[in-house]
Amino acid sequence: MKPANGDGQPVGPVINRRDFLALGGAALSLAAAGGLPAKAEETKPVSPGQPGWKELPVRAFLLSAPETKDVALACQFIREALPKEGVNTLVLRIEYRYQFKSHPELADFDALSRDDLRQISEACKAGGIKLIPCTNLFAHQSEQEKILPLLAKYPQFDESPEYNPPHPWVNGGAFDFYTKSVCPQHPDLYKVILPLVDELMEACEADAFHAGFDEVWVIGHPQCPRCGGKDPAELFARHATRLRDHLAEKNGRLWIWSDRLLDGKTSNLLAWQASMNNTWRAIDLIPQDILICDWKYEDAPPTPAYFAIKGFDVLASPCDKADVALAQLEMVYLIRQNGGRADFSKTLAARMQGMFATSWLDAGKFIRAYYGTEENEGTKNAGAFKALFAEIRRNRPGKSAGA
Ligand SMILES: [Zn+2]
Repeated sequence: MKPANGDGQPVGPVINRRDFLALGGAALSLAAAGGLPAKAEETKPVSPGQPGWKELPVRAFLLSAPETKDVALACQFIREALPKEGVNTLVLRIEYRYQFKSHPELADFDALSRDDLRQISEACKAGGIKLIPCTNLFAHQSEQEKILPLLAKYPQFDESPEYNPPHPWVNGGAFDFYTKSVCPQHPDLYKVILPLVDELMEACEADAFHAGFDEVWVIGHPQCPRCGGKDPAELFARHATRLRDHLAEKNGRLWIWSDRLLDGKTSNLLAWQASMNNTWRAIDLIPQDILICDWKYEDAPPTPAYFAIKGFDVLASPCDKADVALAQLEMVYLIRQNGGRADFSKTLAARMQGMFATSWLDAGKFIRAYYGTEENEGTKNAGAFKALFAEIRRNRPGKSAGA
């Protein structure tokens, strides 16, 4: 993602997802993704005169899957720190770093075992935290020059076989190569990816799955015999709906990032945090029970309200800027508080489900920065996380940790 200046032009290589990954994830070669659910019982309508608007149903955090050497550290962090902070949902960005039994060929470097994931799941349970696995199943199938396991092992799923990362790698800006995408219309795709979803859901005992879906720049590519010339919004919506339907059969909920559903040109939110490639009309084509994770890392635009008005539950999602996180929280509170003004006001208020703090760094680095045992590139990120959750706790006095 990149912000714009007053002329609508991208402002240099500020912070985008790749920068976050490059900062801490180089050794792990992780792609982007992440997310979690909110069930009916959590979606309590606020009542006039009641302070329910301050009680955010979802208080989530995105953490990269730890290196195998850091699993114990991650479990300690989950068990001890997250409940104290008030986090009630952990989205674990696993990507392909798991020893899949259904597709062992897709395990990336330093993949977690089922036992590792079970330990993390047990730590979450002990901390009263819901665990949601996350693997990006659309774009981000490459990381700079590296082709990630799905397309490395199944090149037939590549939406653009001849449109490849530049060598040597350069970040080409808003309209050049960014990451590889899968072809959502390949007839064998779901036979491979749905078992991955099922395995991660089972190991995490999850009732939701975050499938990424951010920054899909390669979609409806002219080189794809199935998708070339098709409407990107329809292609996006069809893929999201297929995954949503699969999860719904198991009482699971799909979470996705928001950016492809926002018109980047009209809003001037541009190509990363919004869509410049005509996917945004998919907002009217996808099922409204998909939970939208509205990542905005530079400021706090009123986009969560847009998703609520369009019928979606939404989480505002900041990263490493404390002032931005607090501004987004203030906006969420404002809309939730409005739910007390009239009966009809409750509908939009209840769709503002809460906050979703994110870290794209190596998990060990973030955790060590959090504890202050190491000064590293996660220090600012950890500071923003702490500032956000301190403010959330301040607004829910008397609540036991993790409640
Ligand atoms: Zn295709």
